Amino acid sequence: MSDRWNGMPPGSDAAYEQGCTCPRHDNQYGEGAFEFEGEPQYLMFASCPLHGGEETDDE
Ligand SMILES: [Zn+2]
Repeated sequence: MSDRWNGMPPGSDAAYEQGCTCPRHDNQYGEGAFEFEGEPQYLMFASCPLHGGEETDDE
């Protein structure tokens, strides 16, 4: 697995312990919801403190 997620892909135990609120079952607990062009794709919530709100820090 790449370290694209710093070892904490959405839905994984590691991410969950850090406060991830993304769907765990749908992401197969870090394996990804589905695969696209060889890369696991994940479902993420915009409200997730780890994976949501990408590139928006105007708070
Ligand atoms: Zn998350």
